Amino acid sequence: LVVLKNVDKHFGALHVLQSIDLTIDRGEVVVVIGPSGSGKSTLCRAINRLETIDSGEIFVDGRPLPAEGRELAGLRADVGMVFQSFNLFAHKTVLENVTLGQIRVRKKDKKAAETRGRQLLDRVGVASQADKYPAQLSGGQQQRVAIARALAMDPKVMLFDEPTSALDPEMINEVLEVMQQLARDGMTMVVVTHEMGFARSAANRVVFMADGRIVEETTPDEFFSNPRSERAKDFLSKIL
Ligand code: ATP
Ligand code: MG
Repeated sequence: LVVLKNVDKHFGALHVLQSIDLTIDRGEVVVVIGPSGSGKSTLCRAINRLETIDSGEIFVDGRPLPAEGRELAGLRADVGMVFQSFNLFAHKTVLENVTLGQIRVRKKDKKAAETRGRQLLDRVGVASQADKYPAQLSGGQQQRVAIARALAMDPKVMLFDEPTSALDPEMINEVLEVMQQLARDGMTMVVVTHEMGFARSAANRVVFMADGRIVEETTPDEFFSNPRSERAKDFLSKIL
């Protein structure tokens, strides 16, 4: 469903993505882990073209990424993204947050968008917050709204970039549970996270990045019990 072929990206002299080859199949949950600065966020952002790449190719559902315009908006809807900082529209209510894109990008009428929006808010457990503004919600609730907002676009794949790392500990689980459920429902997901419990229980595959490269790519069991590279061993010894 998502294919990266020989992708390279520099920020000035810094080679942040180095010959990245990665294929994510439909229904797969891929957890990306690695030290700070290894290129995890850049990789995610490249997949929905929040970053351009210098060379190589990226395909979503068989099509190369569009450069601009209506097609780019369509791609961003197909590739849902959830960030560390929730990035909700602060001056829109929770319900408006989950309906705007449906109306503007997916061209649904307001009523249909609201019905779908309320259904998704219910699914992530924040239905009772529909008429509040983001600032009136806890971090965990805001992040669940952000997930609902992305889902409202009927994405083909969801990208999560450290979705729980800005949350207080007691709110982490409520967000991880929503993600677990999504994974069980068959959503294709790329998840940058250091939540090893989530990686072990939800991931089909772990991709370990260091210095802009994919250093290991294997099952969670294999990765945690028997990391091959020194980089991965060193990384795991620090976080486990
Ligand atoms: P973290 O775990 O800290 O989130 P990461 O693996 O997500 O790290 P990236 O955010 O992808 O890493 O960054 C990779 C490298 O690229 C880092 O050295 C970072 O400083 C640099 N970088 C990221 N974005 C930019 C930018 N817009 N301009 C210049 N350098 C950047
Ligand atoms: Mg990052």
